[in-house]
Amino acid sequence: MINYKDLGLVNTREMFRKAVDGGYAIPAFNFNNMEQLQAIIMAAAETKSPVILQVSKGARQYANQTLLRYMAEGAVEYAKELGWENPQIVLHLDHGDAFETCKSCIDMGFSSVMIDGSHLPYDENVALTKKVVDYAHQFDVTVEGELGVLAGVEDEVSAAESHYTKPEEVVDFVTKTGCDSLAISIGTSHGAFKFTPEQCTLDPETGRLVPPPLAFDVLSEIEKQLPGFPIVLHGSSSVPQDEVDTINKYGGALKAAVGIPEEQLRKASKSAVCKINIDSDSRLAMTAAVREVFANKPAEFDPRKYLGPARDNMKKLYIHKIKEVLGSDNKA
Ligand SMILES: [Zn+2]
Repeated sequence: MINYKDLGLVNTREMFRKAVDGGYAIPAFNFNNMEQLQAIIMAAAETKSPVILQVSKGARQYANQTLLRYMAEGAVEYAKELGWENPQIVLHLDHGDAFETCKSCIDMGFSSVMIDGSHLPYDENVALTKKVVDYAHQFDVTVEGELGVLAGVEDEVSAAESHYTKPEEVVDFVTKTGCDSLAISIGTSHGAFKFTPEQCTLDPETGRLVPPPLAFDVLSEIEKQLPGFPIVLHGSSSVPQDEVDTINKYGGALKAAVGIPEEQLRKASKSAVCKINIDSDSRLAMTAAVREVFANKPAEFDPRKYLGPARDNMKKLYIHKIKEVLGSDNKA
């Protein structure tokens, strides 16, 4: 049993309280490899933003849970080297699918876990979430639950269509489970293809697809039911068009990729939404940079010469999210 506090990590409790009070949101960035982790830590250290490092099921399969945990421990020390005296870094399990998965992460030093029982019947979701909370809270590890189903695909998580969170269920769920934060469904969606062209309208000025707006009425009803309670948005990449254009320009084939407009995330950040998950945007930034190097320098074969620019591009993206969308800079 390793306690996250010994690794210099923090849980989400204090971080979320300040974010809800301060009207900003904490970035939750997924990581799978070293360059991505470096970019996240450089961006957070430079902007003095609290940050949540997320490990998904796909990341655990790809990079190994143990290795990722040690990388996060290294990230705390790296942040200090970068001059961030008191780094506020959470190591979080994204979409925990079973009690055993959550337990194994807690036992090896994660400071926060998500148990995703959103696909289960309500009572089973309550029971599973409560079981994880009861275990996690013994070690002061915070727990994110989920109510409502998101559309889209993120690693192993998929649902054909979304079902908005029912505001009339949230008080009962939070009371019965004791969870520390709640992921809700208000129209965000996993992946880089969040909406079909039929669901969007066409902006005649730009020729771009404009997705349907988030259900802010559902969000404000949830806030009324649970005043000040930390709310989480998954599937909140914006799918930046310049990255998509770069990918397509250099041989990619991403047609009709659509994300959540940043102004909607900016608005959500000012509400009880205090954690916003961003994964696809970093994948796009990485791919765009790598494709550009491959297209312009076909003789290049040193991975540092294309993963380096990929890292730079991800860092730029993370800083943009922190400063221009979530407002979490200078909060740590
Ligand atoms: Zn998710």
